[in-house]
Amino acid sequence: MSPEINVPSHAEHVLETYPELRCTVENGDASERTLCIGSDETLEFVETLFDEVVDRFPFSFDVVHVGGDDWEMHGHSWDECADCREKMAEDGSETVTEHFYAFVRHLHRFLDERDRRTMMWNDQIDISESPDLPRDVLIQFWRVAAPGRGPVEGCSLERFLEEGFDVVNSSVRAAFVRGWISEEYLHGWAPRRRPTVPEGRESQVRGGELLAFEPSNERRRDYFERALPSAIPIFADRLWNPEPIDGGPAFGRTLTRHALGPYVPNGFDAYRELGGTILPTNWKRSGQGPPAHANNSLGDRTPREASAAYRAAIESISTLRDSDETVYPETATAYVDCLEWLLEVADRERRGVLDRP
Ligand SMILES: [Zn+2]
Repeated sequence: MSPEINVPSHAEHVLETYPELRCTVENGDASERTLCIGSDETLEFVETLFDEVVDRFPFSFDVVHVGGDDWEMHGHSWDECADCREKMAEDGSETVTEHFYAFVRHLHRFLDERDRRTMMWNDQIDISESPDLPRDVLIQFWRVAAPGRGPVEGCSLERFLEEGFDVVNSSVRAAFVRGWISEEYLHGWAPRRRPTVPEGRESQVRGGELLAFEPSNERRRDYFERALPSAIPIFADRLWNPEPIDGGPAFGRTLTRHALGPYVPNGFDAYRELGGTILPTNWKRSGQGPPAHANNSLGDRTPREASAAYRAAIESISTLRDSDETVYPETATAYVDCLEWLLEVADRERRGVLDRP
């Protein structure tokens, strides 16, 4: 476990309070989201901050996560800043990426002196170029940056492992409860195998972390609340169970029993009716990939057959809940709500109104 304070980007709140930590730019405005990493003020500020983190978290938190993600996407003013240019000349940094690595090396030295290991996100590290970063930095891999948001060519989880880094695997489609999780991917995921782990490098994958960021709007919240309850046990099973449960019907039945308790009828699989082990949601991501799980809910059944199955499932779950035989009554209620919603969907389809969620 490790506390995370994200620098140098994702710093808008810090910069609101301490505008002196922005770059010094003569013409135009300095970035409002990314710290100046060339000034002594910033270095003093982050040292004070991480000193406090080290003080507040006992030694069992021997890893400190310094963030390090997204600065290219958020924008920075390092090119135009007198302090940054001076620091780059001093350090011999020829690019802003090298300037960033020098900042990370500074933090690493600082934390190393306090017996803490530095951890950071992978997406701004150009691993194809054998970056000048200490190899004991623990890398949290989530995804290769998109074009224009960080290095892409030649970057992969595999390359980080080949370069000798240890990695925490938070591969985006398995780990981000933010609309990225693909149910199919998660069922087939294994932290020491996917996305790409070369043979013999498995032990460098030190674990995984499921990311549950506060949703930024209502649609995301709807997705978040429906995905999280089953994402946690599936992720945990993939991470910790040496023999993960097969992702097929057996998993649906096991998860039903886990979520609703020991009194569920033998073989009952609430998730089959729900179209998958992640609850269906109204929210569809536009473009690339998953998820809109409700599209699976009919399966190979006609709307009439599906409606009958939904009604039977609603009946079973409601009976269990109303006789206090569920472990988590709120979970049972959430399932019933989803099924009632799917019932409306199926009824609409039966009437020929093709308005699938
Ligand atoms: Zn600067």
